[in-house]
Parts: sequence; structure tokens; C-alpha cells
Amino acid sequence: MKTKKQIPDFLHLGQKLLYWYNINGRDLPFRKTKDPYKIWICEIIFQQTRIEKGMTHYHNFIERFPTVECLYKADVDEVLLYWKGLGYYSRAINLHKTSVIIVEKYKGIFPKNYSEILLLPGIGKYTAAAICSICYGENYPSIDGNFYRVLSRLLGDGFDISNHNSFQYFASLATKLMPIEESGKFNQAMMDLGATVCKVKNPNCKDCPFSNDCIAFLSDKIHSYPVKSKKTKIINEELEYYFIHHGQQLLIEQRDDKGIWKKLFQLPTDLPANFAMEIISSEKINHNLTHRRLSITIHEVQIDSAQTFVEINEWYQSKIISNNEISKYSFPKPLDKYLKTRLLPPKKD
Ligand code: SF4
Repeated sequence: MKTKKQIPDFLHLGQKLLYWYNINGRDLPFRKTKDPYKIWICEIIFQQTRIEKGMTHYHNFIERFPTVECLYKADVDEVLLYWKGLGYYSRAINLHKTSVIIVEKYKGIFPKNYSEILLLPGIGKYTAAAICSICYGENYPSIDGNFYRVLSRLLGDGFDISNHNSFQYFASLATKLMPIEESGKFNQAMMDLGATVCKVKNPNCKDCPFSNDCIAFLSDKIHSYPVKSKKTKIINEELEYYFIHHGQQLLIEQRDDKGIWKKLFQLPTDLPANFAMEIISSEKINHNLTHRRLSITIHEVQIDSAQTFVEINEWYQSKIISNNEISKYSFPKPLDKYLKTRLLPPKKD
């Protein structure tokens, strides 16, 4: 005999989550504010960075740029410097671009309307929903991987998250669970449950408020959810750099605002044909980004003549800096590590 599929009591599940959050929610500093500027900064920092890793960056960033006007007045290179270590530097560039729009178009007041917020550089549906729900109490679910994972496990829902409609699909499920006028809390509760209990690997089902309701848990199929049919494509890429130095100085250049590592500084990427330069050593570094596997080779070139060094710099239209100035510039992580190892004295214990 065919059994009727039980309809979940969405309202009850939403209330259970809030009850759990009131007792178990993480005590994070930005949870004490409804200032859209601070919520925006923290949402952008913690989008691709773990809370433990990003916390010091968040505090330093807010200390240096406490208001949108301060961010607007700063040079983008300084913003990049404060972003050092967080990766995905286009986020920092977009923060700066958005600060310009907020100050010049909105007279320094963060827009309140979801559609207007969505038009700001670097702000997608997740961040717009987080700002609108936390700061203005609007009923928008901030859908991310946590929502996909928790909802598909809880409801035993096999909707394929690589489907282009998955955002719409999970947003409509989440809206059913979201208690009216508690949207900000609900979104933060979902984030905490996904990060601390319903983790990708080894979820703590015994500590979960949904352990009596969760279809995946009750049917012992936790790792069958969420369903994802398409694997993310990884691109292999080879990069070459030239560490050209003379005495206590080296050449660096700034990347343009296209591709990876936008606007960061780097070592020159080719050798000028009209100068006889000898490579004295080469080092290989492997570095993985989310969708790229990079194989990097750094060639070392030592220039003995100060005159030639200046001419090479002119040819490249690069920049001459002293070895001890490298910390003042934002380099991609593998180059930063290479230069620090080569040029800075080891830290004493
Ligand atoms: S019971 Fe387990 S699998 Fe289900 S929502 Fe909770 S932590 Fe996730």
C-alpha cells in the first residue's frame, strides 16, 4: 500500500531553530549591531573565510575604516593591504567601489531597498538578504551552502543543487520556515547550525534541534544530501615570474583589474629581450585556488649594475622597492610567502 508523504510542519521547524539559536548561537561581535555598514563588511569578509581566521581582519578593518566615509576616502591600495591574508581580493576592490557609490549617490546612507542593494558592486543575493533581514527586518532568506545542506537533509529533499533553479527552490523552502519578523535571527541561526552542527562532514546530529524531524538522519542517509550532480571544473594553469634584484632592491609591478588577483602587486612576468640577464636559480611552487590549480615558477635574476637595474625598471615600467618594504604591498599569497622567505629575517621565538 502506498503511504502518504508527510507534510513537514514548517512553522514548528522554524521555531525550533530559533529556540536552539537563542541558547546555542555564537557570541560574535557583529551580532550586537544593526549598522548596515558593519553587517556588509562582515558578510563580505566571512563569505569565503572561516570565522576564526577572519575575526582579527574584521576588527582591524573596522578600526581603520569605521564608517563608509573613511573607506571612501582611503586609497584602494590601502584597502587591499588591510585585506592581506583573506584572499579573493576582488572583494576588497568591490568594497571600495561600493563605498564610492554610497557616499556619492546615497550621501553616505546605506540603501534600504533589496533591489537597490543588489545593484552595488560585489553584493549578491546572499549579502543583500543578510543586510535586509538583519538591519531592516525584511523577510529575505540569505541562501548559501548551509541552507542547501541543512534543508535538503532535514526534508530529505533530493533537489539537485547544481541545477540553475536551486537558489529559487531553496529560497522558497526557507521562506516557509522563516518565522515572521525574525528573519535576521533565522538567517544567523541557519548559518550557525550549518557551521557548528550540520557540518559537511560528520554532523553532530545528537546536538541538533532537528534530530527528531530530520529525514536524512532518521533514514541514515545523511551523506546522500545535498544532491550535486555536476562537479566544479578545475583549471590547471602555469605562471612564471622573475625576481629581479640589485643590492637591497627589487622590481615589482601592479596587476590590472582583470582575472585573478586584481590590482595586487607581483613580480615581473617576462624577461626584456634587449638586456642580457642570467637566471641564477628557479623555484617551483604549487598553489590551489577554488577553481584553479596553479603551477608557479619563480626565476631569480641578479643585476650587478645599478644603471642597468634602473633601465630594466624603465623598460618594464615597474616599480623599484627596498627589500624591507615588501610588507607595505599586497602580493598574491604564493609570491608573498616566497618574498618573505627570501628577503625578511626569520622571526625569533
Ligand atoms: S539531524 Fe543531523 S543531518 Fe539532520 S539537520 Fe541535524 S545535523 Fe543535519
